[in-house]
Formats: sequence, structure tokens, C-alpha cells
Amino acid sequence: MAANLNPCISLPISLGENDFQDLIQKVKDWTIMHGGGMRSKTQFSDDSLTVVPFTLLPSVFPRSEFQKAVAIQPALNELTHRVSNDHEFLFSCLEKTIEVDEFTRNLFKLYETMRNEGFTQPRCLGLLRSDYLLDVCNSTSVKQVEMNTIASSFAGLTSSAPTHRFVFQQLGLLNKLSVLPVNNALQGLSSAIIKAWELFNEKDSVILVIIENQSMNICDQRFHQFEIARQRPEIKVIVKTLTQMSNEAKLSDSKSLLVQGKKVAVVYYRAGYSPDHYFGEAEWSARLMIERSTAIKCPNIQYHLAGTKKVQQALATPGTLERFVKDPKKAAEIRKVFTGLYALDLDENGDKAVQMALDSPDRFVLKPQREGGGNNLYGEDIRKKLISCMKSKERSAWILMDKINPPVQKNYLIRPNQDFKKNSALCEVVSEMGIFGTILCDGDEILINKQVGHMMRTKLTSCNEGGVHAGDDAADIVVTE
Ligand code: ADP
Ligand code: MG
Ligand code: MG
Repeated sequence: MAANLNPCISLPISLGENDFQDLIQKVKDWTIMHGGGMRSKTQFSDDSLTVVPFTLLPSVFPRSEFQKAVAIQPALNELTHRVSNDHEFLFSCLEKTIEVDEFTRNLFKLYETMRNEGFTQPRCLGLLRSDYLLDVCNSTSVKQVEMNTIASSFAGLTSSAPTHRFVFQQLGLLNKLSVLPVNNALQGLSSAIIKAWELFNEKDSVILVIIENQSMNICDQRFHQFEIARQRPEIKVIVKTLTQMSNEAKLSDSKSLLVQGKKVAVVYYRAGYSPDHYFGEAEWSARLMIERSTAIKCPNIQYHLAGTKKVQQALATPGTLERFVKDPKKAAEIRKVFTGLYALDLDENGDKAVQMALDSPDRFVLKPQREGGGNNLYGEDIRKKLISCMKSKERSAWILMDKINPPVQKNYLIRPNQDFKKNSALCEVVSEMGIFGTILCDGDEILINKQVGHMMRTKLTSCNEGGVHAGDDAADIVVTE
């Protein structure tokens, strides 16, 4: 298949400058009025929103590859669950990393504390998002970028503010609406949280959402809270930061998590994945208190660790995935979406990987155990980093990954507070797709395991990575061909 995908309409868009400007303003207003907003990075205020960056047109994604990613999501959900319950595997993946990476060590300590004390709640909820780039280097196929097991976001924004339907309608492209796939990600994720609440089975219990002290991505978060209220108006949702939890919440003698006088049934983390969310002992103690409680955690600490890049890398080593996925056909389908992943431990294999990266850094991405975008290294920075820790154990904090080469498409990236002229606004972009999955378990028993929707983010080719709320990525919606 050709590396260049045909755009959904011919470009540049056939509108005069004035009509183009009118369209952009109208679509910006439509988007923000339907919840496509975020807090401003430069002028943070609790009272105002700016429009989320978005692509004027939907990016194109081959239908067969989209469906491939959709089809394997339940198997990936189950894989994550099995990995999270395998102590020996988690330890073998992370033992060297926790020697040198303080954040992962703190997470692991929390996990060890729970193992020693005994886990209080056998049920757990995963709201997962497996991310993909379409690789066009050898053949055209989806390759997994990573699996997110905590705070998987953008289900709300991308499924609730379907800007491209409005754009198509404005452009008189009603006959093309069918190429925009239905996306019920928000309903799917919210329903899973509600199912966990039902499983807890206490009428007066609440759902607790843990957020950052300053939430930029407020609309996406609120969408979940409001969708829960829409589906089940009688369920109370409480929102707190880890800092607030340390001051306001407590554990009862029977390990119920109590906040605002209510017992918590489900804790849904939208924060806690970055060292920046822990200002000191208070936040770590709050996390431990939650972990110790009877609340169903989304995710629990094991799921959080199962989402580390180190685990992803270990699963790609020969035979490892197959240990967890007994059905050989399923294992083969999953393996097809893996790309080359390499450990950098201070041993012979690590030395080989380091040499490979030093020889051609542009073929790789160097990744630490971090989430949220903006942490990876590319090109010359890979070389500098590896040279600086060539003979040190610090190498084990990182993994090396083959760089995936997605097809370049043209689109109009619309950002807040920017003027666009029709000709200069058309730019070269690449897209990353995420597939959402939900899994609800009771010990080894899997009660719910589903694929529930998708999201797409698009960035300039000149930008190695971004994040919609970091202002570099634009919310996009997948179109299949
Ligand atoms: P995070 O958990 O911080 O989101 P990711 O593994 O998703 O970490 O990396 C962040 C971004 O870096 C991705 O969204 C993608 O744009 C880019 N990236 C990551 N891995 C690769 C890869 N193997 N090839 C090309 N780009 C990548
Ligand atoms: Mg991630
Ligand atoms: Mg990512």
C-alpha cells in the first residue's frame, strides 16, 4: 500500500480566504461549545476555557489496520491483567530499574508494602489505552507505541466533541459522514467505572476521582464525571488531589476509605502517574492509604507497574508474551504490532543495544519510565545520554525502541490564539491512534473485558512528541479508508 494516504477531501481546501476564516471561527466556537476546551497554559483560570487544538479535517487511517488494533484490544486487556498479577515477572522486569529510578522505586515500594500487608481488595478496574502509529517503513501496519494503564485520557474530548461531523456538514460533505467511525469511548469508560461501583455493592458509597493540583485537561476529565451523572444520577462523584486526600481522607478500622463522610467504592486516577504529582511524603502517604483501602482502584498499583515501558520491553523478548497469552493465534496477532524493544541493562545485551543506538540514533527512541509525553529522547540527544551513562547502572532506567515512521499527511492545525491564513496554515502532520479497553476483574476471574472506542492525536512532523494539553498535539478523529 502507498505510504501516502489520500486525504478525505482535496487540499488545499477550496474556499476563499474570507470563507476559510469564517469556517475556522465557526468550528472553533462549535468545538468549545461542545466541550472541546482546556484551561489556558499561559493564563490559568478556574473560570475560563480555551479551545483544544484540533485538526480542521480528519486524518486518514486504513480501515484494516484500525480494525486490527480494535480486534486485539481484549487480548491486550487480559495480558495486562495477567502481567499485573505475576509478581515474579514484575520484579524481574523492574529490579534493575528500581535501583536507579527513584519514581519507579517509590511505586514499587508501595506495591511491596501491599504484598507484605496483603491486598485488601481483590477486584480491580483497568481503563486502558493502547497507542499506535502506522508504520510505513517496510509494510503498512500498526505498531504499538505503548500501553497506558493509568489516567488514559482523551476519550471524552474525542468522542464527545465530534468536530469533524460539523466540519463536513459545513463543507456540504454530508455524503462522507459515514467514513467517520462511531466512537463511544466516553460511554464505555464511564460504564466500566459504574460497573465497578455496582460490584462494590453499597448504595451510599461514592466514586472518587484523583486529579492534579492544576488540571489543564479539565473538559476531558469532566466529561467522565458528567457522563457518570447522566447514566446514574444517584451516584455521588467526589474529586480530590492527592494533597487534599492526605489532609481530608482517612481509613476506618475495617479499611474503608472515607472522604467527606462517605465511603469510597471506586478510585479513578487522573493523576499520580508523574513525579510532579507527588510534592513530598504527604502525596505518597495518600497513595498508600488509597491502596490499603477496600476501594476498587483504577488502576491498582500492580496495573500501574504493568504499564511501565520496562514491562512493555520485556514482553517483546522472545517467548515472554507467549507465557501470558496461551492461545498461539492471539499471541501471534499481538506480536505483529510489537516493534523492536531493547533493554539497556549493564550486560552484554545492553552493550549491544547501546552500540546500535550510538551507530544510528535516528533509528530509535530512548524512553525513561515516565508518562504524559515529553520525556523521550531522539537523535543526537540519544547519543549524548548514552555516552553520559555508558558504564553506569543508570542505563537500566531507560529502554530503547525502534522508531516508527508514520505516513505524513497534510492538514490544518487549529490552535487557540493564532491567526491562520489559508495558504500558510496547511502543514505536514502525523497521527497517533489510541484504542480504549476496559477490564473489570475479581481476583483471577475476568468479569468484563471490552474494546470501547478510540482516539486520535495529530502533531506536526517537525515535533517529536507532544500532548494535546501540552499544546503540540491536536485532537483528531480517525477516518478509515
Ligand atoms: P508517554 O507515556 O509519555 O506518552 P510514549 O511512549 O507514548 O510515552 O511516547 C510519547 C510520544 O513519543 C508518542 O506519543 C509518540 O509521539 C512518540 N514516540 C514514542 N515511541 C515512539 C516510536 N517508537 N516511534 C516514533 N515515535 C514514538
Ligand atoms: Mg503513556
Ligand atoms: Mg503516550
